[in-house]
This record gives sequence, C-alpha cells and structure tokens, in this order.
Amino acid sequence: MSSAPDTVVLAARIHTLSPDPAPGSPVTAVAVKDGLITAVGDAAQARAWRGKDTEVIDLGDATLTPGLTDGHSHPVLGLDLATGADLSAVRDLDGLRAALAAAPRTDGWVIGWGLDHNVFGGRPVHRELLEAVLGPDTPAFVRLYDGHSALASGAALRLAGVDGPRAFAQRALVVCEPDGTPTGHLIEHAAMDLVVDVMPRRPLAERREALLALLSGMAATGLTGAHVMDAGGDVLELLRGVEAERPLPLRLRLAPWCMPGTDKEGLAELIALQREAGRNWLVGGVKFFMDGTVEGGTAWLEHPDCHGQSRDSFWLDPAAYSEAVHHLHAAGVRTATHAIGDAGVRHVLDTVAALGTEGRMRHRVEHIETLPYAQAARFREAGVIASMQPTHSAYTRADHTDQWSQRLGTERAERAWICRSLRDAGAVLALGSDWPIAHFDARGILAYAQLRRHAGTDTPPVAVDQALTPLMALEGFTTHAAIAAGEAETTGRIAPGLRADLTAFTLDPLTADPDELAEAPVALTMSDGVVTHRQG
Ligand SMILES: [Zn+2]
Repeated sequence: MSSAPDTVVLAARIHTLSPDPAPGSPVTAVAVKDGLITAVGDAAQARAWRGKDTEVIDLGDATLTPGLTDGHSHPVLGLDLATGADLSAVRDLDGLRAALAAAPRTDGWVIGWGLDHNVFGGRPVHRELLEAVLGPDTPAFVRLYDGHSALASGAALRLAGVDGPRAFAQRALVVCEPDGTPTGHLIEHAAMDLVVDVMPRRPLAERREALLALLSGMAATGLTGAHVMDAGGDVLELLRGVEAERPLPLRLRLAPWCMPGTDKEGLAELIALQREAGRNWLVGGVKFFMDGTVEGGTAWLEHPDCHGQSRDSFWLDPAAYSEAVHHLHAAGVRTATHAIGDAGVRHVLDTVAALGTEGRMRHRVEHIETLPYAQAARFREAGVIASMQPTHSAYTRADHTDQWSQRLGTERAERAWICRSLRDAGAVLALGSDWPIAHFDARGILAYAQLRRHAGTDTPPVAVDQALTPLMALEGFTTHAAIAAGEAETTGRIAPGLRADLTAFTLDPLTADPDELAEAPVALTMSDGVVTHRQG
C-alpha cells in the first residue's frame, strides 16, 4: 500500500493557526491521506510527497485555513423550525399580512418562521392578526425568530385541544386573555409543542434530501463542521439514513437536551447516548436551557425587564440544574447551557466553578446576550467556554428602539454580546450562527464579528467596542471551536496528525476588508479529507 498522500492542496497562503509553526519557508502545501493531514510544507516539499495516484489541488492565490466549525447550529431540528413561509424579511404588520396571504398551504395549514418581534412594534402578539387575513378556520402557526415563541391561530389551537392556560414542569406559557381564552401567543418549547405535535410534518425521505441540500449549502460557505445543539426526535435515524448513501458534507457533533424534570434514569439515557456515532457525526455533550429570550420575556435577569418580566430561571428549581450538570460531569459528559440573561449566565458560572479545577474547559455557555463587563473575567477564572452568535445582535438597533433593547433599558442594552470583553479577559470564545435563528454563512459571521453590523449595509453598528480582530473571529470558528468541543488535539489547526478539515478563501480572512470577505466565494471546502465544495 502506498504511503503517498491521497491529496495535496497548494495555496498562496496557509494560516495553520498552530502556535509553533515549523521553521523554514512559509507553509503553502498540505498533504492529506485517509482523512488526516499527513504533512505541511512548501511547494518544493510537496513535489517530493506526491505518489502516482496523488491528486494535486492547486488553489492559486487562495488562502487556506483550518476548516470552519459553526459552534451552535440546528441543521436537522431547523428543517422543522424553518418550514413554511420565510418571514424573516417582514418589517411591519402590513408586510406580515401580505406574507400570510401569499403563504403556501401545507395540508390546509399556513406555517411561517423567522418573524422579528419588532414587527409588532410593542403591540400584543395576538392570533386576531392571523385570523383577519386567513379567516377563522385556517390552522396557522408562525414562529418568532428567536425559536422560543410562536403565534397560533384559533383553528390551530382547537386542533391541539388548547382552550385555556396550562401548567408545565418547565418555564412555558399559553398566554391568555383575562377570561382565560388563549391569545395564540405560545411561549417556550413546552407551550409551542402542544401545537407542533398536531402540525403536518415533511416525510423522512424529504427531510433527508433537505438536510443534504442544506449541509451542502453550508459547505459552500466554508463550513466543515457544526456543533449541533439538539439530538431529539428522529435526528439520529435521519443522519444514519443519509450516511448509508453518502458522506455527510459537514462533521456534526450533537448534544441532546436535558430538560427540567429529568430524573436519574433520564440522565443515564443521556449518558448512554454519548456512545452513538456515525462516520462523520457523533453525540458529544448535553444541551441545557437556563433561560429563554429577552424579547419573549423569558430570559433570566438579575433585575426584571421594563415589563417586570424575565425574572425567572427556565428550571423551576435552578439547584436541580446544577445537580444535573454535576452528575453528567462526573460521568465525563461535557455540557452546553443556553443562558441569555445575566442571572442565567451567573448561575452557570457558579455551577461550573463549584466543580473546581476539574470543571475547567469542559462546560460552555451559549448566547450570553447581556452581561456586566466584570463578569467576563469569570469565564477565564472558572474555565468556562463562551459560545456566541454575533449576528443575533442584528435583531437589535444601535439607537435602542428595538424590543430587545427597550425591555432591557439603556445600561444593559449597551453591554450587548460582549465578545471582545470576553476575549480580552482571556476567555475561549466559539462563534456560530444558531441557524435557523440567523443565517449560517460563516463568511457573514466572520465579517459581522469585526463590523458589528451586516456586511454590505450602512446600518449603525451595535456596541462597536465589542468588535473582534480578524484573527479572533477566525479563531472562533477554528481553534476556539475545537477547544469548545474538547477536540483541540484533533482539529481546529493545520498540522500533521489532525483531521483534514480545510477551508480555502479567495480573499485572506486576516487582511481582507470584512465587507468584501462576506461576499468572496469560497475556493474549496474539505471535511474529513473529502472535498465538499469547489468553486466554479
Ligand atoms: Zn440554539
């Protein structure tokens, strides 16, 4: 058997992100065999590596970096969340009415997603709005952009048998009029699931096709992997089905949910799930929710928002959350906790800090939307990993006229997505999209993290002092994403022995104008040694 590489990749510049680059001329060549990087060097060395079957991919002026990993994504669950009419471009109530009238029907249902809370301009989120357009008999279900609340029509509520308030074991709410009639506003998963359970769903084969198309689209933006923050329902079955036919375009690392009320048996099941794996996916970690969202009034804040909301933990008993994390930690399981409000983040930090040095670099906090600057240092001190989605701040406005900012008030709205404070304090910071909450395009997020606004727009930036350097942004998708998954020894850098996950940009992400980087085609994406995207 030949020891020559399967592939040699040549590029004008290669940012290995390795702390101790090999001495000699700049790295411009990488050898790949059986899914691993086997050598790193220059073009002259590359000629010596080649065997007769080696494929040489010369990327010309491209810049090669470690493969990009989205630190927080829902590519499978998102297929259900991002179903029906895409309402993310709707800006006001007239726009919503027009979009609903034009929305396709699925088995008689009108389903929509991605609706910005700001569309309501502070008015109640009420089903009358749906019924005025669709009539009283059309079941309709519209998800708000945050994925934590939805608006259902009266017909949908009737099909689900929801005719009044409900009690839940976790924080969730069927919003009702004073007389007990549901308004249609369903807050948090348990409330939404009442209707989701009776909604039409695409058949497995269709979702399998949609997943492949989605992952291929992600690969075309340079993504080689994703930390998938869910693994429920038939997600694993779906992945097995895809892999029986062809390799997954992205390496997926999945974290099933641990919801409030999970008992010892439930925890044992979550631990057992950690053994599940395929060729290019595995279950690795458990996802928790410490709170909901600021816009939904379900974040956990140290001080209530301007409506007197967002004062409670998603767990009715926060101590039970800490116990569950400690139990999983003892079993060697890494955890990731959704915590948006400052009190939620504090509780996770306290929970991990209580584990002492043993807990370092094993647990992470997702989102962290508003946090006192002084808390940033606690991430380094307790060894807690931060995972953030900079583009989520685009749902706010620099002038604080949006729902998120108004609920929080000026002081807390100023400390929005404090990415830079966390990095400057020495924290590990993985970056991601949380697709379908925001677009998955990694180039757009790399640019946004530097600009604090969407590339190609003249929108005033949000908390521009929190902008990352180009290197910090790239690290968020590579080295820091790898640390966040406990994979620093196997991926995130370009070095012999590491996985052959590579991304080639047509512009250098460390020197390009971010506005241009966001639009520049990706020359090549390779995940696990397999080319998953090639320009042109
Ligand atoms: Zn998420």
